[in-house]
Amino acid sequence: MKRNYLLLTPGPLSTTETVREAMMQDWCTWDKDYNEGVVMPIRRGLLEIAGLDENRYTTVLLQGSGTYCVEAAIGTSVGPHDKLLILANGAYGERMARIADYYRIDYKLVSLRETEPVTGAAALKALAETPDATHLSMVHSETTTGLLNRIDEVADVLRGRDITFIVDAMSSFGGIPIDIEKLGIDYLVSSANKCIQGVPGFGFVIARKEKLRAARGNARSLSLDLCAQWETMEKGRGKWRFTSPTHVVHAFRQALQELREEGGIAARHRRYAENHRLLTEGMRGLGFRTLLPDDVQGCIITSFLYPSAAFDFSDFYEKLKAKGYVIYPGKISEADTFRIGNIGDIHPADIGGLLEAVGEVLRS
Ligand SMILES: *Cc1c(COP(=O)(O)O)cnc(C)c1O
Repeated sequence: MKRNYLLLTPGPLSTTETVREAMMQDWCTWDKDYNEGVVMPIRRGLLEIAGLDENRYTTVLLQGSGTYCVEAAIGTSVGPHDKLLILANGAYGERMARIADYYRIDYKLVSLRETEPVTGAAALKALAETPDATHLSMVHSETTTGLLNRIDEVADVLRGRDITFIVDAMSSFGGIPIDIEKLGIDYLVSSANKCIQGVPGFGFVIARKEKLRAARGNARSLSLDLCAQWETMEKGRGKWRFTSPTHVVHAFRQALQELREEGGIAARHRRYAENHRLLTEGMRGLGFRTLLPDDVQGCIITSFLYPSAAFDFSDFYEKLKAKGYVIYPGKISEADTFRIGNIGDIHPADIGGLLEAVGEVLRS
């Protein structure tokens, strides 16, 4: 089926025809062909592409969008007597504090500017001011702006401290190499419809078994109890506790296979980086400026400043959409921006087509 338009957004994103075709059948949610034959290989496959040992790490799949999984990770791992330190520089980091509010978790939120990266220095300062922190959470690729936070530097600061490390790698896992074990990440959260290039409907948490086991009984939500979901998936060999998004799971299996065929995370990262490079170069050539300096900008999504005060975003958006390209509004308070995603089934030739369309819209 022909595409309606190309999604240059950070999820849902443009998927391949073969991923969409994988959904054209109905499946039973508790059948063993599905659980053992589809769900379990996905759980193992995610550990495999992350380079993790099954004896020490596990993958738990959970219904809902990415936020459900961030909430499940925080709500399951942070106990009633723990203290969560949140390092935020955008909407997704701030959302972790909203989750903590709902759970009445004792937390400290450090809000940096949206254009300022979360670094080792920021973590060191925050930890000195929050000596009773038992957990630290942050976002890797802050999709609000496209900024890539320094999880490596924060990991260095956390080394040797007894602090659980929770990373929202929603928009980076699968598209940027992350050495989860070396970085000492205890919970890494991502979802089906970002860099693995599946469709929306569930997310997943890659967790250190030892930490997840110790969190048993912590959850204050039934459906978002990550431990209970894990236990059911282990005992039932891939069984979900409640109705699973069977079509979406099949699409995801196909997407994971296509990630392997592309050459894995390193190869996908090269493609996204090339998309980003061409996009930035081309947009600058057309007179646009990026919100972020190049040294903190990631390759997932790019924020561009409005070229002038008179710039009409909705007109620009509609004209691009009519040419087959859907872009994304900005989300920050500091400046007028719009965003263009580089992820999904998007290739350098597509970026070329988009730039041509942007040029035509500007001249019209
Ligand atoms: C997409 C995304 C989420 C999850 O958002 P949902 O709308 O719940 O899917 C969380 N964090 C980051 C950084 C994201 O990019």
